[in-house]
Amino acid sequence: MDKNKNESELEYYLWVDKVIDQLKGRKAKKHVVHGMWTPSGFFHIGNSRAELLIPAFVHQNLKINGLKSEHNFIVDDFDDFDKIPQGLEIKKEDFEPYLGKPLVEVPSPVDDFKSWADYFADGVVSVIEDFVIKPNILSSYDSYKKGLYDKTIKTVLNKSEEVRKIWNDITKSSKPKGWIPVMIVCENCGRSATTKVVSWDGKEVEYICNQHRDYVDGCKHKGKVKPEKGHAKLPWRLHWPATWHIYGTTFETAGKDHFAAGSSVETGHAFCRQIFKSQEPFQTPTEFLMVDDTKLSGSSGNVISLKDWLEFAEPELLRFMMASYKPKTVINFDLHSNKFFLLADRYEEAERIFFEKKDKKEKREKQLVEIYKFSQVNNIADKMPVQLNYSIAAIIVQTFPDKSLKELSGILHTRGWIHRKTLSSFDKERIEKRLELAKNWLDKYAPEDVKFTVQEEVPKGLKLGNKEKEALQLVVKALKEKEWKQKQLFEEFYNICQKVEIKNTDFFRAAYNVLLNKDRGPKLAPFILTLGKERVIELFEKV
Ligand SMILES: [Zn+2]
Repeated sequence: MDKNKNESELEYYLWVDKVIDQLKGRKAKKHVVHGMWTPSGFFHIGNSRAELLIPAFVHQNLKINGLKSEHNFIVDDFDDFDKIPQGLEIKKEDFEPYLGKPLVEVPSPVDDFKSWADYFADGVVSVIEDFVIKPNILSSYDSYKKGLYDKTIKTVLNKSEEVRKIWNDITKSSKPKGWIPVMIVCENCGRSATTKVVSWDGKEVEYICNQHRDYVDGCKHKGKVKPEKGHAKLPWRLHWPATWHIYGTTFETAGKDHFAAGSSVETGHAFCRQIFKSQEPFQTPTEFLMVDDTKLSGSSGNVISLKDWLEFAEPELLRFMMASYKPKTVINFDLHSNKFFLLADRYEEAERIFFEKKDKKEKREKQLVEIYKFSQVNNIADKMPVQLNYSIAAIIVQTFPDKSLKELSGILHTRGWIHRKTLSSFDKERIEKRLELAKNWLDKYAPEDVKFTVQEEVPKGLKLGNKEKEALQLVVKALKEKEWKQKQLFEEFYNICQKVEIKNTDFFRAAYNVLLNKDRGPKLAPFILTLGKERVIELFEKV
């Protein structure tokens, strides 16, 4: 990173460099970077942007810049269970009795997990190391139980009138005098969503479980407890700033909806300063990550989780995507078109530039190099790794659907897709991994126009004109004559079209019709050479 940037040259290669410069202004002895998430449903790659990867890059960059930093991922498992998500194989009525209770007290929807919260948190915790993200994972429930929040709860109880004024002022609501924003876990029914604090004598709170929610009603129990050690908790608008105060958070982002006027960022900052007497963290809003033009929702079940990602792409590609885009930019990710290839292409371009020996790099090249560095999950190789383009991988696995990954890797070598003579074990692994990922992508996400099956026989009912037939026979003749290189064979196709007086488009369509039973396909010359001319000759001769 260039340490000599001056003020007038406020151009950063990466957004994360700008954040570090802004954080340097705080003069903190140690930075504390937070992500926070409620395990009520699936954690998807959209959540991973604001809550995991942006904080991870900031944490990483603080350390690169010689600053002390701690990275926490807070699992808000003490939050209420307020909705039963779709896409789960459960009986809704089995879970309805738990609505209004803390997520950590709700049974898991799947066997072998301690709770609802535990099951969904596992979807993050079990795979983040594959992305080389290693935050401290902190359960809010445990923190409240241990008494970490006790002081802040008492502060809110003691200053409830001041809290009420700030709350009403910023959110334009009209909470009545005497309103106390602390939630008690009902000793009778275990719900926290339905209780209301009635009084506070400095030691104990009186509460009544009589609140109505859309999904549940209180049990009418009246009780008195010490508001500590997990018997009480703070509502979101206070829980968030209390967490900043407790941990000394210096950086945290969040989805941009939290930043609207009157939203939890505005109240959070006010409570942090005026009630808890702390400085709020530096915060930048993070835009949404759209998949197929839709905002992902953890409660819909139709999401791409971190685990799903690892089935079709390398972890480096997710890191690359998140490091590339400024948090304030919407990411339009599209997994169902070959636009997805572009992400892989851009990553490989960055890799080539990184290894290119060139003294002066353009700004964009320098940017790509920095993004490439942030994308890595392993130590960077000594020399440029062998690249297998994603779209080529998708072609190879479809051309030879029955071959093993090892055999496919051999085919790539002998058919001219890989030029390096000997491959290191690292290269071999990387190529086989890419082939496996492409296979999974084709099975699960690929659009029809990318998919194909090489035909065993000339498709039944295929009608070709005389000129098309003649052109294909000339291809047979040419293939028999000699060994071709891609470029020459490509030129030969145009010679054949001229000779037969047929439009190029008609010729290519005829060839794909015979080979793939489709009007379009991968680039014909390299495809024929990869498939092997014998199979092509055999099919074309039967036309
Ligand atoms: Zn109750």
